[in-house]
Amino acid sequence: MIWNNSGAQQSGGETSETYTRQRTQMVKEQIIRRGISDPNVIRAMMTVPRHLFVDEEDRNEAYEDHPIGIGEGQTISQPYIVAFMTEVLKPDSTMRVLEIGTGSGYQAAILAELCDSVFTIEVFESLGEKAKRLFSSMEYHNIQVKVGDGYLGWAEKAPFDAIIVTCAPTHIPEPLKKELKEGARMIIPVGNFYNQELILLEKKEGKLIRQNVLPVRFVPMIDTKGNKY
Ligand code: SAH
Repeated sequence: MIWNNSGAQQSGGETSETYTRQRTQMVKEQIIRRGISDPNVIRAMMTVPRHLFVDEEDRNEAYEDHPIGIGEGQTISQPYIVAFMTEVLKPDSTMRVLEIGTGSGYQAAILAELCDSVFTIEVFESLGEKAKRLFSSMEYHNIQVKVGDGYLGWAEKAPFDAIIVTCAPTHIPEPLKKELKEGARMIIPVGNFYNQELILLEKKEGKLIRQNVLPVRFVPMIDTKGNKY
């Protein structure tokens, strides 16, 4: 894929080589050293220019080991969490994936490197529209963005081979369970600000098998009026 790096070169005097060096170090220290081993996930983390998904003044921090603010009180997830959630979905080039919580668009871009198509829903119009523009400038033609409430799923595009939720409800949304194909997986943070777990669900013979995989802290899932789920 060919990137438009002009923005990167203007910001803080950093060159794209500097970002490539920082990205290589991120993948080595935060991703591989902590146990991510799927070579395709590692390659995607090495390929996607994470600095283009944060505001220009934050680009020098883009490859650091923490989340970063992206406006509207929302964040781009820590690189390791993105890689971890991607790996547990066992992505492959045939899969149609639904993401709830587009945010910066970074997680969707990682999935777009690995899967056939990505459908992503963002509740804030400003963030959804910004991500749309970024995807088109980066020529990610296999990502579709919808502005709306992801709790309700995306019926017209369902069913999906995998669902990834990057904001936390206090329970697993019923509509999302229904949009999983047989054999499909969903990774979702569930809980409140103080007590949250990533949960992996797998649909087997119509039933959902549930596994708690990692304690995390995501922003809450909200409806279009801003009320928490
Ligand atoms: N995947 C994102 C992480 C964004 S943080 C990234 O890679 O940058 C979580 C996002 O979920 C926020 O942008 C927030 O606005 C969004 N969100 C919260 N509730 C939502 C809902 N009901 N439907 C869709 N998006 C929601």
